[in-house]
Formats: sequence, structure tokens, C-alpha cells
Amino acid sequence: MSVKVEKLNYTYSEGTALESVALKDISFEIENGSFVGIIGHTGSGKSTLIQHLNGLIKASSGKIYFNGKDIYADDYKLKEHRQKVGLVFQYPEHQLFEVDVISDVCFGPLNEGLSKEEAFERAKEALSLVGMDEKYYDKSPFELSGGQKRRVAIAGVLAMKPEVLILDEPTAGLDPMGREEILEEVSRLQKASKMSVVLVSHSMEDVSKYADKILVMNKGELVLDGTPKEVFKNIELLESIGLRAPEITYIVRDLRKLGLDIDDDISSVEEAKDAILKALGKDAKP
Ligand code: ADP
Ligand code: MG
Repeated sequence: MSVKVEKLNYTYSEGTALESVALKDISFEIENGSFVGIIGHTGSGKSTLIQHLNGLIKASSGKIYFNGKDIYADDYKLKEHRQKVGLVFQYPEHQLFEVDVISDVCFGPLNEGLSKEEAFERAKEALSLVGMDEKYYDKSPFELSGGQKRRVAIAGVLAMKPEVLILDEPTAGLDPMGREEILEEVSRLQKASKMSVVLVSHSMEDVSKYADKILVMNKGELVLDGTPKEVFKNIELLESIGLRAPEITYIVRDLRKLGLDIDDDISSVEEAKDAILKALGKDAKP
């Protein structure tokens, strides 16, 4: 049970003067219940790639298997697929259009054919998952803060009960507090359910904290695919494509240069704290 991508290629406006190759021979797998980060510079192909995962864009060549089934097979039900693989676009608040929050989140389930009562139950559950309580139900989406609008948009996709939740740069344009809140919420959701999460970001800090696996894109190619620790070992490669490892890995590298005996694959602040205290002969307090 997973999403499996095999040798995916995609060219925009194929056969015209505007032809541009966006994805080159991409292969990877998203295991069930995992948290995958996709990172890369603007224009590296992240948004194009994730739109393939939920079937919005069809590959020029290559295959995608969802739970073992070829999504390009003639008898594959793409409409159902789009519910199972939910996509939250970048700046999703631009897609809030109903008069109030609850109607907006009910839209998907109603469209799917659920009754008003069922849709309301779904919407209520989804809104509570993103931490929006009943006092917001009757508010216009336009009265909400940036972070709240984004939560409502995420709830709209969650109300469809997806097996995979894809978020395209969910923290773009939010202040640090709003960013942290959204990511914590998503991480909690992923841990509490069987849902897989795919988080697209250009911030290594954001991705490294939550992802089990990181895919690094550059100019339409997948250049790294591994655990955060595996990926951050390639600091030179990351820098050569305009990315950085999380700040803590640089601090650890400097401390090692200064002679502190700590591992070279530390990738989080918590790990660094424990390792430094241990190296200094002090036990880390819980
Ligand atoms: P990212 O999300 O990493 O910023 P995109 O997937 O949006 O990257 O873009 C990848 C490449 O495809 C870029 O060169 C971009 O200019 C091009 N591209 C994206 N969308 C379109 C489109 N609708 N038509 C033509 N080219 C596009
Ligand atoms: Mg993008």
C-alpha cells in the first residue's frame, strides 16, 4: 500500500515553441503513513510533480501506482483517486469562496454526494482536526487571519478523508508563529491517523523537523532521496543547488572542527542538545 512513481517525465506545451521539460525520469515511493518532504528551488518541478500524484496532470511518460494500481489504466477511477490523494494548493485561501467557513468545508463532501447532515459531520470533524472550533463556522473566510484561512482550506481537503494529504508550500507567506502552528498541526494529524503526508517546501528547517524521508528536486530532476540524516550529509550538493542543510548541522560541523566529540549526522536541535551535553559529561535532563 503506497504511492509508487516510476520514471516519470513531463513536458509543458509539448510539441510547441513553448515546450519546456519540467520533470525528468523521476522515481520514488511514498510508504503508507509516512511523512515525505519535497524540497527544491523555485522552478525545480515540485508543484508539477505533486499535481501528477493526484492525477491533475498526466505524465508525458512513466507510471504512477496507487496501492498497486496503475492510475493511468483505462478502468482506473481518477475521480475517486483525487479524493484519496488530497491536494492543498499553494495559497489555498484564494480558493475559499463560500459565504462562511462551514459551507466552504462542506462543499467537497456535498459534491461527493453526501447528505447535508453527513457533510456537516465531515466538515465539523475536519475543522476540529485543524483546531478551528464552532465559533468560526459562521464567519466569512475573509474575516479570518492568514493562518486561519489556510486551516480552513486544509480542512476542506481533510473533509474528503484522503489517504494521502499533499500540501504545496503550506507555510508560504505566514509569519513564524503561523508556520510553526500549521506544521505542528499537520504533524499531529499524520501521527494520529494512517494518512501519509507530502509536504512541499523550500525551507529545509520546516521539512527536516517532520519528514521521515526527503526528496530533493533540482531543475526537474530528483537529486536526493533519503532520510533527513542521509540527505543532510550531502551539504556540498545541497549548497551547489542553492539549498542549505538545517542550521543545526552547520553548528554541529563547527563544534566537531573545534574538537567536540559528537556524531556528524545530527539533524535536529534536540539531538544536538543531548549529544553536546553528553560530550561535556553532563547528563541531559528530561
Ligand atoms: P516549483 O513548484 O518547484 O517552483 P514548478 O513545478 O512550478 O516548480 O515549475 C517547474 C517548471 O515548469 C518551471 O520551469 C516552470 O516555469 C514550468 N512551468 C510550471 N507551470 C507551467 C505551466 N503551466 N506552463 C508552462 N510551464 C510551466
Ligand atoms: Mg511550486
